[in-house]
Amino acid sequence: MEKNYNFGQIEKQMQEFWEKEQIYKFNQNDEGKIYSIDTPPPTVSGSLHIGHIFSYTQAEMIARFKRMQGYNVFYPFGFDDNGLPTERLVERDEGILAKNMPRSEFIEKCIKITGKYEAEFKQLWQSLGFSVDWSLQYETISPAVRKISQALFLELVQMGKAYTKDSPVLWCTECQTSIAQAELDSKDIDSTFNYIPFIVDGKLLQVATTRPELLYGCVCLFVNPNDERYSKYVGKAATVPLYNYDIPVLTDDKVSLEKGTGVVMCATFGDSTDADWVGEHDLPYRKVILPNGCIADEVPFIGGLKVHAARKEIIKLLEDNKLLFKSEHITHSVAVHERCGKEIEIIPSKQWYIDVLSGKERFLQAAEEINWYPEQMKSRYIAWVENLKWDWCISRQRYFGVPFPVWYCKDCGKAAFAKTEQLPVNPLETEYNGVCECGCKEFIPESAVLDTWATSSVTPQINERFGLPLVPMSMRTHAHEIIRTWTFYTIVRSLYHTGKLPWKDLMISGFVLAKKGEKISKSKNNNGLSPAELIADNSADVLRYWAASARLGTDTFFSTDELSVSKRFITKLWNAAKFVISHLQDIDFTAKPQLMPIDRWMIERTNETIMKAAMLLNEYEIGSARHEIDELFWKDFCDNFVEIVKERLYQPDIHGAEERRSGQYALYYALLNILKMYAIYVPHITEYIYQDFFKSFEQSASIHQLKWEKPELIDEKILMFGKKLKEIVSDMRKYKSENNLSMKAEIDCLLIKTTAEQFEYFRQSEKDILACSRAKKVIISIENH
Ligand SMILES: [Zn+2]
Ligand SMILES: [Zn+2]
Repeated sequence: MEKNYNFGQIEKQMQEFWEKEQIYKFNQNDEGKIYSIDTPPPTVSGSLHIGHIFSYTQAEMIARFKRMQGYNVFYPFGFDDNGLPTERLVERDEGILAKNMPRSEFIEKCIKITGKYEAEFKQLWQSLGFSVDWSLQYETISPAVRKISQALFLELVQMGKAYTKDSPVLWCTECQTSIAQAELDSKDIDSTFNYIPFIVDGKLLQVATTRPELLYGCVCLFVNPNDERYSKYVGKAATVPLYNYDIPVLTDDKVSLEKGTGVVMCATFGDSTDADWVGEHDLPYRKVILPNGCIADEVPFIGGLKVHAARKEIIKLLEDNKLLFKSEHITHSVAVHERCGKEIEIIPSKQWYIDVLSGKERFLQAAEEINWYPEQMKSRYIAWVENLKWDWCISRQRYFGVPFPVWYCKDCGKAAFAKTEQLPVNPLETEYNGVCECGCKEFIPESAVLDTWATSSVTPQINERFGLPLVPMSMRTHAHEIIRTWTFYTIVRSLYHTGKLPWKDLMISGFVLAKKGEKISKSKNNNGLSPAELIADNSADVLRYWAASARLGTDTFFSTDELSVSKRFITKLWNAAKFVISHLQDIDFTAKPQLMPIDRWMIERTNETIMKAAMLLNEYEIGSARHEIDELFWKDFCDNFVEIVKERLYQPDIHGAEERRSGQYALYYALLNILKMYAIYVPHITEYIYQDFFKSFEQSASIHQLKWEKPELIDEKILMFGKKLKEIVSDMRKYKSENNLSMKAEIDCLLIKTTAEQFEYFRQSEKDILACSRAKKVIISIENH
């Protein structure tokens, strides 16, 4: 082994070796139970950041762990390369707007640009040493996946679980598309609460509203049925200020007695409650806001203005007409679109939905049937399902997505669906050849595309496209912010399509934060260094080791200073392995030596750590497992065992040849198994050390094809002995340093008090203790308690 570890050269060399030898290739006929991983296809929305390394690497370590537990690991990778995030990326990169150009031209650009970013992603995962079988790769916009997505949509239509409805929908006027509840964020904004008089029976009834620009959309006033202040007005007509038309005063128990004046205006549509009310009370629709965010031309005073300008204008008009009693400044939370941050409107339109509301109970029950790691993430899912108010709107008035395989009859409007053998189909390019029930032969294609989640929610089915049944898959992994989308939608789809849960385990990782509480994302551009630069400067193994620092599910901070711990570790591992291996060159496995107690202890401590680490990794606790292995490596192996045993290696004439062989045997076992455990974290350096020495004894092409030991019983007695011995060594070192003695300084006598049980171990270890303590003599006595 070289003096220094040259990561730049060796990591590349190892990656080429894995690729050439197809070390991670999945073959369904290989031995071992299949362990299948449903990896999140990253959204192709721009540059990569350290957060990607963090969460994807944690999952990758589990793939390696399971492989070394004897499982046949199915570990595919995909890209989610359609939908709004991709469109926005292309618009930004190219300085274009999708709406200003022919759809086909825009899609062509999308395909070209996503290809470029996907290559970057793949390059990153490869340079991190990911053990992915790339022949299983998929892209959500590819023909094969479009076909699956469309076929499953048609299946939902047949089941009555997908339906179309003309009704108020959550709408982004910036992106000009309908969106789903899961795509809402909330934002605090400064606004005003405006007190406006309506006239009922010649009396003034004050209404407080944050959205006076919707006055023209007022369809009724609501009071609480128990509000005695207003009971005399119920059923009467109120006149809308400025616009002077009459609306009824109605009751509804959703009206708060405390908030505002206790009288609220219902306008189409200020919020989701307005939309509910219009349905429940059978109220009319009065159009105010258009899909592009402008006020409709026919609205007096403010027609053609944008919403915020219209609000200002109406407030001014109300003031001028002495119709504004009071205007209070407030900060309140509004719903915004997560992709663009723009305030959401509710606008009626015809959209496609997947029924999720009627299945709430089943979806809640699913939370109990899936194993959540960490457990507390389950409550986020439950809270989301309990608070669902809308069915899942899956149509988007956008361009780059999976098309709906649907046309509509020109005469009667009835939907006509593609046949399975036609899929994938784009109705904008393919005409429907059939006849409607009404006799009409002309059809209008559906121009909307599917919500990208409508495709990525069927990743288990996409993974099954080669014919291998996988559902329920063993594990799904992702960061905690997409529980309400990806977790929820996939559970819904899987239960609908298969009647089964999509996976057994959910592994939820945390975020990487830049500053306190801030998520690192490409849009904020606060990541400092790109992942490629970080790898080039520090090595993949250093970054991977860092990625395993946090507890599962917890957020972590990143700065390059954080990597110094990792770098120290890599240096230590290299130096320790180099030293140990230099003493193992003449190791002889023809007969197992009679093991010395200290050597037995090292082997048992290694086995104990293997058991603990495996237990933690089975619960996806990457960080805690690494901590156990670190304890073994740094403290027991390097600080104590190697220090004690090296005298035996150097001086067999004093200690005996058999004793030297015993030491070699334990060193070999401990180092190989430490490397095997670390192999899931730092696959390159461990592979290199394995290739350099262990391979000739182990007959496995790669360390990553070896299996972890499965010790069942641990010799507690020998562990206790080792613990006591460590204490003695530590006391002896402390004594020397407190007395300003060198560690090599001789001491006259070392007195060891031990139990009857451990006496024999200490007696057999006398020479080792003498050597490592430089004591002239050792007295071992039994201490009776
Ligand atoms: Zn938007
Ligand atoms: Zn028809």
